[in-house]
Amino acid sequence: MSFQAVAGASSAAEAGGAAERGGAGKAECPVCKVTWVVEVDRRSDAVYCSRRCMVRASRARKKTLADQEALAQATHAEADD
Ligand SMILES: [Zn+2]
Repeated sequence: MSFQAVAGASSAAEAGGAAERGGAGKAECPVCKVTWVVEVDRRSDAVYCSRRCMVRASRARKKTLADQEALAQATHAEADD
């Protein structure tokens, strides 16, 4: 189930990467969509444009997980009833 979500995200990232191909080493922040030149503006392993976006992304992920757990618990409670 979670694997499908990961696969979908990865294929979306691939499509974006293909569109960016030709521009030498450009990367895009998945949070604010700002772009930069890899190895010039940021390190090659940088994913987010800034620490702020990294924090925002990790918070959003935690919130999503919490929402899913709440939903699962609510569904489970209904089933028990
Ligand atoms: Zn950003």
